[in-house]
Amino acid sequence: MPLSLIRIRDDLNVVPGRLFIDGNWLDGHYDRFEQIHPATNEVMTTFVEAGARGVDQAVVAARRAFDEGPWPRMRAQDRKRMLQPIVEKIYAAEREIAQLQTLDNGIPFTFSRNSRVSPKSAADIFDHFLGWIDKINGETYPQFSSASDMQYMTFREPVGVVAAILPYNGPVMTFAMKIAPALVCGCTVVVKPSEYTNLVVLKLAEIVAESDLPPGVFNVVTGGAETGAALSAHPHVDKVTFTGSPIAGEKITIAGASTMKRLSLELGGKSAALVFPDAESVAGAATTLMGLCSTFLSGQVCTTPSRAVVHRSIMDEFLHHAAEQVKTVRFGDPFDPATTSAPIISKRQKDKILAYIDSGRREGAELMFGGGTPGGELANGNWIDPALFAKVSNNMTIAREEIFGPVLSVIPFDTEEEAIRIANDSDYGLAGCVYTSNVKRAFRVARAMRSGSIGVNGYASVPNAPMGGIRRSGVGREGGWSTIEAFTELKTINFNLGS
Ligand code: NAD
Repeated sequence: MPLSLIRIRDDLNVVPGRLFIDGNWLDGHYDRFEQIHPATNEVMTTFVEAGARGVDQAVVAARRAFDEGPWPRMRAQDRKRMLQPIVEKIYAAEREIAQLQTLDNGIPFTFSRNSRVSPKSAADIFDHFLGWIDKINGETYPQFSSASDMQYMTFREPVGVVAAILPYNGPVMTFAMKIAPALVCGCTVVVKPSEYTNLVVLKLAEIVAESDLPPGVFNVVTGGAETGAALSAHPHVDKVTFTGSPIAGEKITIAGASTMKRLSLELGGKSAALVFPDAESVAGAATTLMGLCSTFLSGQVCTTPSRAVVHRSIMDEFLHHAAEQVKTVRFGDPFDPATTSAPIISKRQKDKILAYIDSGRREGAELMFGGGTPGGELANGNWIDPALFAKVSNNMTIAREEIFGPVLSVIPFDTEEEAIRIANDSDYGLAGCVYTSNVKRAFRVARAMRSGSIGVNGYASVPNAPMGGIRRSGVGREGGWSTIEAFTELKTINFNLGS
């Protein structure tokens, strides 16, 4: 019997989606599109394709709320009181939100509920940013010279109308990382979820909508790339905060150029993990790195170290433990607690990953295991057996391009300098890792690796520390004060104190 999610879909009372614009839920007179579940390719429901018309309606509402409404000018304490209930409401609904996230992108329910992409983590993100609300301060400057009696001071003002465009892989977390700071800073927002993960974002939108924010402060449009393109090009949008692929990031940059939109771009990665012979546990490093590619979202995570750069002397040990890890992988019903791994989001993306695996073979890497597609009850879904390539050279396609799937490429090295050179020889620079028990080496290598963040003997992002990339991995940082800076403009007031 093929796997089916229709029963759970019906149990969760899934209904066709609507837009949320100017304080109202709308569904009339728009085209609709189907959302398909990646584990089974069954239709979950339909959503509105907002297109340029829906986007314009939402942006006009957000513009009016920003230019004429009370939100950007509200006292910090009042704004905080309006937003505060969101934290508790997300906690209270966390089980349902986690279920909807699994019904959207197929992330195993256990991870949907208990990981950094969980609703509990999203509530913590809101909680963190709410703490900033009465601390978004400017500065005063000593008077510069006796030639003038001017006093200078700065204020941090909301950047304006924000377009928030989300990816499919962490819709709950990315919603929180963008919407919480935007609202906290006094911006108005139009959010567009990925076309693959509307259910959960509309549930979060319902929670935000219950906060009685002034109409137009928070709006949601659904749709695909064209809707995203219309949003990122809209002349009345001041800032785009985007998480997604470098190619879409590039288009968004071009679309915003004529109006000089502020941009925060969290894009793709091809991160390297450097495993040295003095690593505390080679088995631990191998299990973690293979695990990141084979369980959870099956490598569909931007920070996944998809290049394991491993010292030649520990290569056999590393490959052995990576193979052992893969034996723990279980595919199946994403709501079954035994399931460890997500399907690939779409048939198109599945084919793209299989083509990368072919290219690895053709270009001379050694496929140690994986790369097949399971049949039986899983035949209708987008599943790929986790693949490990050994003897990869850094100029092969599988080492250069973001595969965004369950493929780990293992590249051998002999010296520390060579390992750093391999890590840095990439178009990307999002994250990275170094496994060593030598503190001086850890520091040296972490400083030498060119990327937005580096983990030493492990990696995890948190809401209160900056995260983001260089090169094709993006522009700007999200996390803590860096986010507040990204959602505000500095205004300098020159105060003439002379006669
Ligand atoms: P995607 O770029 O295909 O889609 C992301 C969003 O952009 C979707 O909402 C989509 O509808 C929209 N979009 C597509 N084309 C657009 C355009 N021309 N203009 C405006 N919007 C457009 O990405 P995805 O497949 O959803 O996510 C995977 C990618 O996201 C990977 O590259 C991954 O590395 C990256 N990612 C990065 C981070 C990070 O923090 N750096 C986090 C998660 C995912």
